[in-house]
Amino acid sequence: MTDPNQYSCHGFHADLPGGKATGVLRLEADGIHFTIGAISGYFPFAGTHMQLGGASDRLVLINHPQHPEWSIYTSERSILRNPHVQAHPQMAGHLARAKQHARKNWLIACLAFFLVVGVPAGLLWRSDIVTGWAAQQVPPEWETKAGRQALDQIRIKGEFMPQKESDALLAPLLAPLQEETRKSRFKWQFYIVNDPTPNAYALPGGFVVIHSGLILKADQAEEVLGVLGHEIAHVEQQHGVQNMIGNAGLYLGASLLFGDATGLVAVLANAAPLLLSQSYSRRFEEEADEVGSAMLVRARINPMGLVTFFEKIMAEEKKQLEKVEDEHAREALKLSMRFLSTHPSTEKRIADMKQRLSRQPAPAWREFGDAFPTLKQSVQTFVANSKQEKKGKT
Ligand SMILES: [Zn+2]
Repeated sequence: MTDPNQYSCHGFHADLPGGKATGVLRLEADGIHFTIGAISGYFPFAGTHMQLGGASDRLVLINHPQHPEWSIYTSERSILRNPHVQAHPQMAGHLARAKQHARKNWLIACLAFFLVVGVPAGLLWRSDIVTGWAAQQVPPEWETKAGRQALDQIRIKGEFMPQKESDALLAPLLAPLQEETRKSRFKWQFYIVNDPTPNAYALPGGFVVIHSGLILKADQAEEVLGVLGHEIAHVEQQHGVQNMIGNAGLYLGASLLFGDATGLVAVLANAAPLLLSQSYSRRFEEEADEVGSAMLVRARINPMGLVTFFEKIMAEEKKQLEKVEDEHAREALKLSMRFLSTHPSTEKRIADMKQRLSRQPAPAWREFGDAFPTLKQSVQTFVANSKQEKKGKT
């Protein structure tokens, strides 16, 4: 005999093999009891969300904010007429709202359809297209929020040059890029932090942190601008956001399927530590090289600066490595070297960049006059002063 309170269902959970399984759910007076795959669980009616979703609203999507690890759906729409559901006033309210929500938000319906049909196909074929598409749906404000949180974390530890001073010093170098950054979804902001490693990184939302070591190791404005162009391109192409979405993968897809963007918001909100430690795939690095140098060329900044800077840093890191005889120590040192560890196959990238640039007609490159030596001098003073301050404190 079939149990009128029992329904077949599907669920997503991290501990299920492959992340999903089929199962059964049973409605009782206190809530929803389910067994999906080998895992059993329970949602009390209070707080449970039920809404229609999927193509033509054929599915009933069930989740509970206190159990975000679960996303469950059933194709048995008769569940909505079950007396236990009807008896619970909060559930009835949800249902009415859910229906309204589903009608209003056709975009989310399209999204759900895409995820049901497109994601599995896309994942099998090329996951980067899916994450690229998903990243484009992220509102710029969310990216800005995630980037700002990451920046706040760096600010806790890092010594930043006073904003007014760094803005004034960087202005003549960044002015040619203004035309480019004005078109951007973000309001670009640049910071200088006291850190001897020759590096810079850009966070989602357009926050660029330049290490003092990058400015001090560079010999020309074009070298710093080459690195900045590359980093700006990472953000404009949403490489960090795509990484995050790729990592969240199936669970994020499942929650978007439920017409629920809170998962994506949560991923971005918790992304700060991820943003600071992430590295990019070779494809993203090549894309950042290409997009970044095209941007520089449009601004009449010689993009070869990035190449000469890479070559210089690589030669320096190689020299340092040669001095270390112990193999383990050498591996450890390699890991600590940002350019070799986070910029894979740099030699190939240098060759690619040179080839690309040799194909382009070179405009009359911009001159920067005293702007770079002035910046370098001020950074030197900033670093020396903060060292003295530290000595004074101890
Ligand atoms: Zn990069």
